[in-house]
Amino acid sequence: MDDFRSDPKQYDLFAKVYSFLVGGKAVPGEEKCPPMGIRYGGIWYRPENLKERRFYNWHEFDDLLTQAFSLRSLSGEDIVKLYKMVFGVNAFIGNGPEEKVGIWVETEMERFKCIQCGHCCLNLYDSYCTTAHEEDLIRWKEEGRWDILGYIDGGDLWISPKTGEDVTRCPWLRKLPRTEKYSCRIHDTKPRHCKDYPKSKKHALRTGCKGFG
Ligand code: SF4
Ligand code: SF4
Repeated sequence: MDDFRSDPKQYDLFAKVYSFLVGGKAVPGEEKCPPMGIRYGGIWYRPENLKERRFYNWHEFDDLLTQAFSLRSLSGEDIVKLYKMVFGVNAFIGNGPEEKVGIWVETEMERFKCIQCGHCCLNLYDSYCTTAHEEDLIRWKEEGRWDILGYIDGGDLWISPKTGEDVTRCPWLRKLPRTEKYSCRIHDTKPRHCKDYPKSKKHALRTGCKGFG
């Protein structure tokens, strides 16, 4: 559910997953709602073997989807199908290192290669306005990185020490001379938030990272 809520534009996917869980046919759409005639986005749903369909706005659909997940008992095969549907990579059931049965996911992260385009540091707002992890704060203190800590305020990064406001560009981003490439001046000790980007192939593709070609 976190994946859906983090990106509410995945309407087709929401509809597909709902249909998978409860049967019937769900499709994204709009409905004009009285009394003002305002158009709301949401899902049109027609249960199996019925002709009549009903509209649920996104708020109502969020509850429905949560309910569908909690009511449906998912087999391993169901989880594999859902994972492939949601994350767009291959998954299968198999034995793990201790011979325990589980689900293998081919993440394809081995194909990821950062081309230093700078997009994630320049254009993704939460790259330079987020909260530091505790482990980062501890490490920077241990490393004596008071320059980095100077841009933290109450755990939030990056805050300009001059204005006390959020910066409009990450202070550690550097454009490499005579190229269109960028580098991070604190690469070896950058925040976990940055180290973890992208979290998956899907995350990369949906946020405009070019690391998958
Ligand atoms: S957007 Fe992707 S390819 Fe570009 S700098 Fe960030 S991680 Fe590297
Ligand atoms: S700290 Fe480094 S990796 Fe993180 S946003 Fe700034 S330049 Fe990018």
